[in-house]
Amino acid sequence: MSLISLDFGRDKSDDVLGTVCAVGPMGSSESENQAEIGQRLLAHGQLLLRAAKGEIQFTDDPSANRLLNDLTAHPHAFLLGCLMDRQIPAPRAWIIPHEIAKALGTFSMDALQRLSVADVRELMERPKPLHRFVSKMSGLFHSAIARVADVYGGEAFRIWAGAPSSADVVYRFLEFDGVGPKIATMATNILAREFKVPFADYYSIDISADVHVRRVFGRLGLCPADANVELVTYKARALSPQFPGLLDFPSWEIGNQWCRAERPLCNDCYMNDLCPSASSSTPNALRDTA
Ligand code: SF4
Repeated sequence: MSLISLDFGRDKSDDVLGTVCAVGPMGSSESENQAEIGQRLLAHGQLLLRAAKGEIQFTDDPSANRLLNDLTAHPHAFLLGCLMDRQIPAPRAWIIPHEIAKALGTFSMDALQRLSVADVRELMERPKPLHRFVSKMSGLFHSAIARVADVYGGEAFRIWAGAPSSADVVYRFLEFDGVGPKIATMATNILAREFKVPFADYYSIDISADVHVRRVFGRLGLCPADANVELVTYKARALSPQFPGLLDFPSWEIGNQWCRAERPLCNDCYMNDLCPSASSSTPNALRDTA
């Protein structure tokens, strides 16, 4: 394994995130190409990490975005949005806290704590179902509010306050009912990358290997075309051990914008010159791993 230093014009405090590991037999062309690809993905991840904080566009609704971005007065809105983000399109999931706030007239922890599970279910069910799995998600929503109240004194920001280690934050998210590694690392990654919440380290923020990321890793030759979540997760750790999740958004963005399941737009993709799949980029030449 060799280390390739990256220079983004950083000051020394950024150095912990500035290397890509080339994995495989030393000096092999495959290893060197993977390192170059990882280096370019990491450079894009670094740009995002170092960009000024802006409002995160979780949904198309400005009011919903304001609530979800308000980590000062409503940090539980972000937490609950993360919890809802499963098995339905993300914008539909992330708007749920706002829809409940509209129905209640408030999204204060005091008001939320007074709700029974049946109350939450009613709010999620009428006038239209807010989630595909209203019953299950009502329980998880109610349980999360109770945990924030009992463990964090009603202040969800204490999950990530005080520059804790990334492992501590991922662990604390995992302690909520219904949260698995995918949601826990996604939540921690958003806090680090978008909200610029400081952590002592970034080692435990893994890539969220969704369908876009897996397809892109396969086409870029970082993993086999049919790689599972574990293979993609460990490849990201191997390439960027100090912050594997830094590869997350660049990979997802490539998959979402250019490297579609069908008819990938290779001519527009900034990986074109390195990608082993780009030269055969006609729609039927690429294996659809979606
Ligand atoms: S060059 Fe084409 S196949 Fe390769 S990652 Fe980009 S869009 Fe996908």
